[in-house]
Amino acid sequence: MENCIFCQIIEGKIPSNKVYEDEYVLAFHDIQPVAPTHVLVIPKRHITSLMELAPEDHVIAGKIFSSIQTIARELGLAEKGFRVVNNIGKDGGQTVYHIHFHLIGGRTLTWPPG
Ligand code: 5GP
Ligand code: ZN
Repeated sequence: MENCIFCQIIEGKIPSNKVYEDEYVLAFHDIQPVAPTHVLVIPKRHITSLMELAPEDHVIAGKIFSSIQTIARELGLAEKGFRVVNNIGKDGGQTVYHIHFHLIGGRTLTWPPG
């Protein structure tokens, strides 16, 4: 998808600090981390938001969540805990319209969010 920052990261046109990659998924460190660990997990296929994820995308959805488990273990977050966030649309705080899951950890997180 032209003009999509995350598609450009997938294509290697914009550099990123990668932590995980497979056929379906790419994960890289967020450029403006809100915690000691802040990774973005995205599908390689452009999907605008969770609301555009279709039932036939179940393989992608499964790969996203299994990669989150792998990354959390590799980065040492699994034992202490961490948070997964998906922002949807304007009120949800979504700024990049390529579906992504924030994996946030490395400190105690407060709840509820603002
Ligand atoms: P959203 O607000 O859409 O849920 O999250 C978008 C996230 O993407 C933000 O946390 C922002 O810091 C991150 N981000 C935006 N542009 C870039 C970029 O070019 N590289 C990286 N690594 N992260 C980015
Ligand atoms: Zn995209």
